[in-house]
Amino acid sequence: MRLTFLGTSAGTPTRQRNVTSQAVEFDQGHIWLVDCGEGTQQQAIRLGLRTARIERILLTHLHGDHCLGLPGLLAHIGISGRTAPVEVIGPLGTGELLTTVQRLTHAILPYPLEIRELPPDGEDLPSKGGWVVQARPLVHRIPCLGFVFREEDRPGRFHAETADALGVPQQLRGRLQRGESVVLADKRRIDSRQVADPPRRGRRLALLGDTSDPEGIAQAATGCDLLVCEATYDAERQAKALTWGHMTSAMTGAFAARIGSKALALTHFSSRYGDGHSQITVTDLVAQAQAACPGIPVWAAQDLGVLSIAADGCTSPALQPDAETNNPCP
Ligand SMILES: [Zn+2]
Repeated sequence: MRLTFLGTSAGTPTRQRNVTSQAVEFDQGHIWLVDCGEGTQQQAIRLGLRTARIERILLTHLHGDHCLGLPGLLAHIGISGRTAPVEVIGPLGTGELLTTVQRLTHAILPYPLEIRELPPDGEDLPSKGGWVVQARPLVHRIPCLGFVFREEDRPGRFHAETADALGVPQQLRGRLQRGESVVLADKRRIDSRQVADPPRRGRRLALLGDTSDPEGIAQAATGCDLLVCEATYDAERQAKALTWGHMTSAMTGAFAARIGSKALALTHFSSRYGDGHSQITVTDLVAQAQAACPGIPVWAAQDLGVLSIAADGCTSPALQPDAETNNPCP
């Protein structure tokens, strides 16, 4: 499972960063997007993302830098040959936004567009492909949501050789692997723990929208394998961050520590960092976040950078392009 950052800038793009979007590619090949700022279509082309495999697009909120790329991307998905439905899931107003643009631009999509609006307090979406999405409210200037992608637990490893030794027939083994007990023909009772390891915990990925206070998602995100959270400003600009409904790097690090996240990726950086406007750089923001969450790996998201989320819950950076030598927006 891979998470790719298609845009990591707050508010406006810079030479190195486009506005917000993230793509989650599942092991089976299908893709979910979180947010779709202007230019996401172009970023997807640069990445070589197979847009026909996008089956779901989640919007955290309706500020333009998180959603104005959607009409173009939906058309691109159609041109890519998709005929299966595409879900767009976002806050109240998502339907009005999309249907208005579709109507006024006379857009015709070759696939069914399924729009689902979430209440301001969020909700749990029905399981899809073994994953549940928990939408939770975040404090921002307008209604905003964060999402926890929660994989259903998987059965533990089954020890066939032990089952053989106990004389367990094949037709009863599935029940044992699912955690049930069985009684054999000779009246012996076999417990699941005798022949199978405990269930393996599914992966958990928390992807937050803009916020000055992420407390609303804290419980759902506790113990996640990866937290992706904004760090719009540096630690010295907390008053400004709160005024505009955002977080500083230090606030984000402290939140990661509080919920016991196993790794943290910072994103949604103010355009002041990295374009020579500020002495402070994104590297400094990482250090400030790291100081607030010792022992938790902290990365700065980069456009077209990839994180892999392995089945055993580990998170490791892979294929991260270097900002200087592999700049996607020269
Ligand atoms: Zn916003």
